[in-house]
Amino acid sequence: MGATKHTGPIKLPGRPDPKLWVSKIPFGLGKVKPKHVREMMKVAWINRDSLPYAYRILTQGVCDGCALGVAGLRDRTLEGPHLCTTRLNVLRLNTMPAIKPGVLHADIDELRRRSSAGLRELGRIPYPLVRGKGERAFRRATWDEALDRIAAKIRGIDPKQLAFYLTARGITNESYYAAAKAARYIGTNNIDNASRICHSPSKTALKRSLGIGASSCSYKDWIGTDVLVFWGSVAASNQPVSTKYMYAAKRKGTKIVVINPYREPAMEGYWIPSIPESALFGTRLADDFYQVNIGGDIAFMNGVMKAWFEMEEERPGSAIDHGFVREHTNGFEELKAHAKRMEWEALEASSGISRERMREFARLLAGARSGVFVWSMGLTQHRFGTDNISQVANLAMLRGFIGREHCGVMPIRGHSGVQGAGEMGADPFSLPGGDFTGKEAARLESLWGFELPKWQGDIVGVSLENALLPEDHERKLKVFYTSGGNFLETMPNPDYVRRCLESVDVRVHQDIVLNTSTLVDAREEVWVLPAMTRYEQPGGGTSTSTERMVYFSPEIQGPRIEEARPEWEIYGELAARVKPEGSGKVRFRDAAAIREEIARAAPNYDGIQHLKRQGDVFQWGGAWLCEGGLCPTPDGRGRLLPIELPERRKPEGHFYATTRRGKQFNSMVYGETDPFNGAGRMDVLISSQDADSLGLRDGDAVVAYNRHGVFHGRAKREAVAPGNIEVYWPEGNVLFPTGVYESHAGIPEYNAAVIVEKAETYHARKDARYVERRIEELEIDLPG
Ligand code: SF4
Repeated sequence: MGATKHTGPIKLPGRPDPKLWVSKIPFGLGKVKPKHVREMMKVAWINRDSLPYAYRILTQGVCDGCALGVAGLRDRTLEGPHLCTTRLNVLRLNTMPAIKPGVLHADIDELRRRSSAGLRELGRIPYPLVRGKGERAFRRATWDEALDRIAAKIRGIDPKQLAFYLTARGITNESYYAAAKAARYIGTNNIDNASRICHSPSKTALKRSLGIGASSCSYKDWIGTDVLVFWGSVAASNQPVSTKYMYAAKRKGTKIVVINPYREPAMEGYWIPSIPESALFGTRLADDFYQVNIGGDIAFMNGVMKAWFEMEEERPGSAIDHGFVREHTNGFEELKAHAKRMEWEALEASSGISRERMREFARLLAGARSGVFVWSMGLTQHRFGTDNISQVANLAMLRGFIGREHCGVMPIRGHSGVQGAGEMGADPFSLPGGDFTGKEAARLESLWGFELPKWQGDIVGVSLENALLPEDHERKLKVFYTSGGNFLETMPNPDYVRRCLESVDVRVHQDIVLNTSTLVDAREEVWVLPAMTRYEQPGGGTSTSTERMVYFSPEIQGPRIEEARPEWEIYGELAARVKPEGSGKVRFRDAAAIREEIARAAPNYDGIQHLKRQGDVFQWGGAWLCEGGLCPTPDGRGRLLPIELPERRKPEGHFYATTRRGKQFNSMVYGETDPFNGAGRMDVLISSQDADSLGLRDGDAVVAYNRHGVFHGRAKREAVAPGNIEVYWPEGNVLFPTGVYESHAGIPEYNAAVIVEKAETYHARKDARYVERRIEELEIDLPG
């Protein structure tokens, strides 16, 4: 934790800088790029029935889009407006009216004919609903009936057979906290959140390497740092206003480097609507790209370290910050020996990058006085995600890029609420204020006044798999309570996930809209409970951004949905009905009372109790965690960890497949065409070199397949590293294995080796495929 406080937003330079322009042709005419003005007009049209309310949400509320974080139209990094099309696209979720009864109570197959986007457009869930086994339609229920029946079912099972999950859909810290407490009060530690499929390895790795569980720096540190590295992160697409920060950084001379298998067009150049010269002529963002293989980052980083030790042999002190390493780290000699032992050939084969290029990047970092490393799913969604992130921490520590201005490590988050989820204890490994250890449990028991279950809770993927256990198994999942979340469209292997969802006795979907998972049968009952948005909740709510800013979002005056309730209230009420004897311990008077309690339960959040008005915000941990190099580990030092190359599970003739996002916000798809490259959602992005060798032209029907599934799409030549392909998420999830989790943080594996064939070849060989399967193919993607 640091003593230095964030100093607030700074001004952008007034005069333009033509050196940064993408082109002198105004508005990028003729280029494939987002059409911001058209988007804004479309959003205004969609929200035309509630424009004043939409305006108030935008100007008073805290954005419920990504976790860059903004209150109203102002952020803590730059002066001037902060708004993007992602926020505008999700706006309708907050302004739309309730679903019409005729549609809501139609035959379930009528609803099932719609996609998640189609279901979303129907409107908000107006009141509690239930659909029992064999029933063809949802029936209206009262809140009392719903909560009593769910509570009665929970009372009749072992708490290990109950699991909670909370997505990040605008959920506030108050709701995460109330859910975390309610679950423990009921007696289960099976509670998990959306970070399990995005940044759980970041938290796990940063804890083991640096003793922290969040970004060590602020966005302001991007502006003026010598080198800003984006690792497996397309911030320009997923956190659009970050481009404004990148622009500001470039104006201060920062070099931006992107490390990614695909030369992402959004990171190459961007037309930033709120900066006139950029809106007109675009801004070149990345100064350099390193197109690593999917899963090749550990090798690449080992190569960088190896190059540093070569430089050190020639000229000691030319690459490593020995002062920082000596004063603030352990494990240097082991890491050095490990990096030196690595063979260049192996590093090149795994990373797909030549040793010359690895040395070039090593020299760039060695010559930099400061650096910030930002990453996203390209590093985390692997069966070695935690190791990927510990490698980033290794690089940062060896260069002393920790705990001071313009330096840091930043797992950039994609969803406004997700940073707070684990910090509030909605996580099987965490409690509010710390990890789930005996000491923390004892502290919370004394604050909460009840005993906590001590067994290890399951991550959400395992909870779902537990639905398929034998009936009498103590962990057979019988009640699954999910706040938001669409597992059919986020987890690998959707068919398997459907079987799991169907195999629980009772499923509860607490949400604002229907999605495809809500419509899946259960063995006894499916309950649907209407939740309020963050802007409707009495007493407002808070959310924590990537840079640890805790923003207060007030209740905003406007139309309300008939019977929707604040999520924190529903959790307290449910828990009170399961165990009425201690109901006073889990019910909260109001949102302010929850914030009061959070301040005591999670010491980092001391200050949240003072957030009351629009614009109120504080940053927990100060401007830099590990300030001055002091890590919150038992001995105050960071741990340098030798990381082995992951085993390559890509047999000859196969490609590595990974996923990317298009015009979407997490799993919510808002358009069929990717605005940055014009790709359709079923396109398979492949390098020209590979397309040539397969005889593929743009638009040719192709099939990507492996033992997990078959993906039918169209070839699209793009600047992807040869040997790799990219497909859209979630459509491509059929290609990924079930039950393969990263061993430290439990993130599912979202990469796999696949064969790519022209569709006609695939279909012509259909009958022979069984006998043609190769031994190597059968061996890939084994758990572990
Ligand atoms: S960049 Fe993120 S926080 Fe900012 S307006 Fe867009 S979605 Fe909201």
